[in-house]
Order: sequence, then structure tokens, then C-alpha cells
Amino acid sequence: MSNGMVVWLEEVDINDVPLVGGKGASLGEMIRIELPVPGGFVVTSYAFKRFLLEGGIADKLFKILDVNVDDDKELKEAEAKAKKLVLDTKIPANIEKEIRRYYKELCKREGEEVFVAVRSSATAEDLPEASFAGQQETFLNIKGEDEVVDAVKKCWASLYGARAIYYRMKQGFDHSKVYIAVVVQKMVNAEKAGVMFTTHPSTGEQVVVIEAAWGLGESVVSGSVSPDLYVVSKEDRRILEERVSKKTTMTIRKGKKTIEKEVPPELQEKKVLSNDEIMRLVDFAILIEEHYGKPQDVEWAIEKNKIYIVQSRPITTLKKQEKEDEVEIEEEKVILEGIGASPGIVSGVVKIIREMDDLGKIEHGDILVTSMTTPDMVPAMKRAAGIITDEGGLTCHAAIVSRELGCPAVVGTTNATQLLKDGMVVTIDGERGVVYLGKVKEAKKPEVIATSPQTHLITATEVKVNVSIVEAAKRAAETNADGVGLLRIEHMILGLEKHPKLYIKEGKHDEYVSELVKRIQIVADAFYPKPVWIRTLDAPTDEFRGMKGGEDEPREPNPMLGWRGIRRDLDEVEHFKLELRAIKELIERGYTNLGIMLPLVQHPKELREAKQIMEEMGILDKVDVGIMVETPASAILIDEFIKDGIDFISLGTNDLTQYTLAVDRNNENVAELYDEMHPAVMRLIENVIKECRKAGVQSSICGQAGSNPKMAAKLVELGITSISANIDAVEAVREAVYRAEQKLLIDKVRER
Ligand code: PEP
Ligand code: MG
Repeated sequence: MSNGMVVWLEEVDINDVPLVGGKGASLGEMIRIELPVPGGFVVTSYAFKRFLLEGGIADKLFKILDVNVDDDKELKEAEAKAKKLVLDTKIPANIEKEIRRYYKELCKREGEEVFVAVRSSATAEDLPEASFAGQQETFLNIKGEDEVVDAVKKCWASLYGARAIYYRMKQGFDHSKVYIAVVVQKMVNAEKAGVMFTTHPSTGEQVVVIEAAWGLGESVVSGSVSPDLYVVSKEDRRILEERVSKKTTMTIRKGKKTIEKEVPPELQEKKVLSNDEIMRLVDFAILIEEHYGKPQDVEWAIEKNKIYIVQSRPITTLKKQEKEDEVEIEEEKVILEGIGASPGIVSGVVKIIREMDDLGKIEHGDILVTSMTTPDMVPAMKRAAGIITDEGGLTCHAAIVSRELGCPAVVGTTNATQLLKDGMVVTIDGERGVVYLGKVKEAKKPEVIATSPQTHLITATEVKVNVSIVEAAKRAAETNADGVGLLRIEHMILGLEKHPKLYIKEGKHDEYVSELVKRIQIVADAFYPKPVWIRTLDAPTDEFRGMKGGEDEPREPNPMLGWRGIRRDLDEVEHFKLELRAIKELIERGYTNLGIMLPLVQHPKELREAKQIMEEMGILDKVDVGIMVETPASAILIDEFIKDGIDFISLGTNDLTQYTLAVDRNNENVAELYDEMHPAVMRLIENVIKECRKAGVQSSICGQAGSNPKMAAKLVELGITSISANIDAVEAVREAVYRAEQKLLIDKVRER
């Protein structure tokens, strides 16, 4: 069979990559180990070669492709001409006959005329990169012989898409040595589907991570739905985590189209997989990983109770980590510079996101490049291996979320979306804030030995952690921090399907409250009984506008100085009360570890008003209440606030710095002036800590400055009672705090 034009999937294995491409060979392998892969066949690269030769188009084609790929116009022209040439050339009769025969036979095997997916499976000499194949097209919902033949040809033509031509030229591949095989495979009409990782994709833990949603797998892969999440230990098959999400949309097949529709209400909050199905998937995950000898990212689907394994590929993020320490970085390859917002070095394929519709492009291991991230992008950010933005500073959305996700990021590059192109391979150094062209690897780093929970340093000053996205709760708790010094609930709210006002307008107050409760509870649980300070809503109007129902958000000349924080909640008391209701419900469920923190206060009367509302709701005496000190006004009047009664304060140095220095925290043009340790900021901080100490009020910091060990040491000297850092900084801050405390002790002894 090895020189056939068309072959069955079950006839091929990993040795047949040159003939059937990586995808075809991998599917064949999976069938051989008796995985339930949907049936199908491959139109081989040999058939494609015959097509080029017998059609007499090879020379003409390669001449067309010989262009300057940096010239967009030339590149587009080459694409159009090459594709037209392929599409206009007749498929040799013997090949076409074979394709038709195999399709008919496939339908016979399945007992009906089946829908198939027609996908390219690239093959080339010396071309191991999976990402390369990912650049060609896939044609879904194809039915009928003529359509199949047509789709095969379109797949062939897709080998000459502009992006593919560009990529090959930049990577130095010879077009004439790149062939394409086409996989034609029965499409599963899934009732439920999703992905699974055979090993934890970012931590490497020995668990199977399964994501599941209703309908076809597209919604999970594209991130348009928040899927259920199940984490199962491979060792003893215990379900370690089970998160049932609200799944509002699903992709289904309607005729020859796939459409998105609303999930029936009774299914929205229902768990997608039974425990039996979870265990069967885990069995397959273990089998697949054993077979390939490396962690895999697997797509699966369930139709009429039968599980199908649709695709499996190595987890790219892990692969990169394993290889990280081989080669020195070459300075001359730097193509972009910005602000190192989240540490780590990672390589991947660039995907530019200009609008929300582009998000589906982001596959696991890609580099997400955009002007600035928004809360809607979080599912895609989770898939990305790295993030680059044009705008922003150390405390922008991209910086905060990528740090929590542990995903390297460079922000504020000013022109990444112009300079970079889809398909380019780049390397990000999220510590130094630089982007290199190509895949460069890190110089060997000294091994970092993680401090085990039993051996972490005990400090008198508590070291806490900041949490913004629910997904980070577990990672945050694993730092062994002494609590959460800042839970930013606006990230939860902005991630909801609609604007809070719309919930209120539709009379869905209870639903809104229960959405909040569900999310806050995940964090409260992860840390119980350690304290979790929940900050009430603090999102600028421009961030709200993108939400469904957010069209009426006022357009403000400067949202940072606008209608945000406590001032908004006191204007929209109905909403404020819903936040408080969520906290009350958690208190009633027995969470004694919660505190309420009010953002952006600038006058004690705001505190008084907020406390009055808490009193009316019957929670004032049940939680600790505190304020963020992030306006110079609150820092100067701190004694007045203390008189009105507060349990704690937390220094929001991100805002305190921008308001004290008149430097926009998100404006990369003035980033150089943004100095959290500026003497004026430090003087305000000193005053606040001094007054708090005098009055016995707990003082803390939750701005980015708290993650700087130097600042942490200084704050310890000033007598701060806790420091809340980013997840990745907790360890270093703890050490700095420990050392500073030791030094104070020694100095004291010496003074005697
Ligand atoms: C701050 O201003 O320092 C802070 C922690 O709040 P945010 O970054 O959410 O404005
Ligand atoms: Mg702030």
C-alpha cells in the first residue's frame, strides 16, 4: 500500500509520515492501539505529487511562489495565482476515481452517507513542526462524493495561502519539497465534546485535565464557552477537582453548517460528563500518553454514548519547558522591546488578535499578540504560551492576568501588532521585556528549588497573595501565602456574559448574586480559614462598555479618574447591595475568613455611607471592613478614616503612584516616570503606616510594588502588618521579609 494514492487510516503508522503527513500517521497510530478514532482515509502526498506532475503545473507553480514575501502586495498576488492554478487544474482521473471509491466505501462501513472533515496533513522533508500543518485549512461538514473531491482540491490549494508561503520562506523551507496529504475522516455529531491534557499543561503534574461542554468540540477549542473542568489523579484515579460551569452556548450541526445556539436552560448548569465517562476518558488519556511517550493534548467527542478520540498532539508548552536550557540567546535577534510584565521565556507562533472574532485562532502554545487584552480574552490567554501587547504598563490587564496564569508576557511594545505577522515564530523573555525573532532558547538557568510547604519561612509580617481570576486560586493557594490581600472581583464580573445592569434590568438579581457567590467561593475555599479580602467593584467605564448591555456606559475623557470604585457603587446602590448580598450569603454558608475592602475612597464620608449600607444589610459586624489607600486624599486623611472605624487598610500603590505623580499607569510613553518608590509616594506610605500602627489598625499593600522585594523590606522596617504579592513573587517577598525582620532583630540586640 505504501505507494498508493489513497489509503485507509488503519493501514498507516508513524513510519508513513512522508506519505500521509503527521496528522494522518498519528490517527493511524491511534487506531492501531485500539483507540476509538472515527474512520477515514488519506489522499496521500504521492497523489498530490502526481497531480502536480501529470497536471504539468509544478514549474509554473514554483515560479509564482518565488516572490519577496515581505512585500504584502506581491505575497497576496502569489497566493491568488498559485491557488487559482491548483483549483483550475483537473485531478488525474485515476486519483479522482480512488477518492470517490474510498468515500463510498466509508459510507458503506458507517451504514449511511456520512459527513466528513477534510483536513490537510502537511509533509515535507525535515519538517517536524506541527504548527506548520496547522496553517492549512480544514473543511468541515462535507457530504457527497463531488463535495469530497472538491474539498481535497481546496486543501491542496491551501498549501499556498499567504501565511503558509511566508512562513516557509522565513523558515527556509523549499516550496518544491513541501507536499500535502489530505485526511478525510467521518465527523462525529457530538452531543458533548472537549479536550483533555494527559498531564497538567502548565505545571506538569501527573493528572489528567478534562474540559467538556455540550455539542461539537468547536466551542471548547475556540474558547467561546467556559467548559466544565475535571482534574483526575493518574495515580489513584481520584477526581481532585470538578468545576461545573454555566455553559450558555453550544456549537451544533445544522444541515451542512455548524451554528452556535443557546444551550437549553436545563443543561446550562448541568455537569456534562458522568463519572463513568470521565474514567473512560482517563483510561484513554493514559493509553495515549504511554503510547506516544509524552504528554498529549487530545480532542474527544461523544456521540450516542460512544467516545471518539478525534485528535492528539504533543503539549507544546511542556515541550518548550523541557528544552529551554540549551542555547544562549543571541542579542542581535531582538525585534521588539517593551515592559517585562510576567517572567519566563517561551517560543511560539504569533497570532494577532485585532477583534474578538479572531480569538478562535489561538491554539495551545501560541503567542497572543494584541493591542490590549480584555476580560473576554481570558480563555484564549489561558491557551496562549505567551502574550505581547502594544499598550500597557506593569499593572494593566494583560500584566495582571498573565502573571496569575504564569504565562510570560511583554507589554507596552507600542507596535507589536504592526511589526509582527501571523505565523512568525518568536521568543518572549517576560523578565527582560524583549521579543526575539525565531525560536531562541534560554541560557541554562540555575535550578530553582521550590520551597516545600513544610519548610517555608515563617515571618511575623504576613505574606499574602493577590488573586484576580478564579482560575488562579489553586496556584495562588499553593504558594502557602497567609491569605488573599486583594481579590479583584471586577475580573469575575467583567467575565460574566452580560453587564450587571442587564441582570438587574431583566430582574435576574438572584442569578447575578449566585454567579458572584460561585466564583468568590472558589477562592474562599482555596484559602479557608486564612483571610480573603474581597474588594468591591472597581472597573473603569471603558472596560464595562465591551460587555453585552454595556453600550450605555458613559464615555469619559479619562476613565482612570472617572466613575469607578466606591464612587460608582455609592451612586448605584442597588448593584452595591448585590455584591454585599453575595458576601452575606458566603458568611451564612460559614465562611468566617472574609473581609470587605473599598476601592478608591477619597473622603471619609464615602466610608461612612458604605458602612451604613452594610449595617442595613446586617453584615457590618460579621466581617472585617477596610479601605484601599490609593488616592493621595485618603493617604493624607488616614487619621480621619481611622476615626470612622476601619479594621484594615491596603496600599494600592498602582493608583497611588499614578495619582501622586500624575503618570497614567497604562501609558507606555510615560512609563519611565512611573516610580512606586518616588519620595512623594514613600512619604504618603510612611504616614499611613505610622497612623495605622498608632491606632492598632492592620496595614497592608496590594499594589504591584508589594511584589518588589526591596519595597517589601522597606515596608517591614516601617512596620506594615502584611504584604500581598503576585503569585510568582510570593516566595521572593517572603525571603525579603524574613531577612528584613532578622535584620531588625539584630539591630535591636546591638542597640542594647
Ligand atoms: C492598586 O491600585 O494598587 C491596586 C491594587 O488596585 P488595581 O490595580 O486593581 O487598581
Ligand atoms: Mg487601584
